[in-house]
Amino acid sequence: MKCPYCGASRFRLSHLRISDSVRLLTFRYPVRCRLCRERMYISLSSALRMRADSRAHREAAIEQHEERLRQEAADKQAALENAAITHNAPEVEKNFLHR
Ligand SMILES: [Zn+2]
Repeated sequence: MKCPYCGASRFRLSHLRISDSVRLLTFRYPVRCRLCRERMYISLSSALRMRADSRAHREAAIEQHEERLRQEAADKQAALENAAITHNAPEVEKNFLHR
C-alpha cells in the first residue's frame, strides 16, 4: 500500500473522530501517512493487521531496551569490580603500609 499523496508506504492508525463513524460502518479505518501526514481510509482488516504489527514491534523494542539496560548494568558492575581489583587493591595496600 502506498500513500496516494506522496507515495510513501509507512502509515500509522489515525485517531478516531465522530465523523469517521459512517466509514467505520463500511469497515474502513482512518490512517495517517507517516511522511506527509495526510489522512485516508484503509480496510478495517488492514488496520487491524497494522495495529497487531505495531504492537509486536513496540514489544520487541521494549524488550531490546530492557536488554540494553541489563547489559549496561552488568558492564558497570564488571567495571566497578575490575576497578576494585586493579586500582583500589594496591591503593588499599599502600594506605595500609604508609600508616
Ligand atoms: Zn503521504
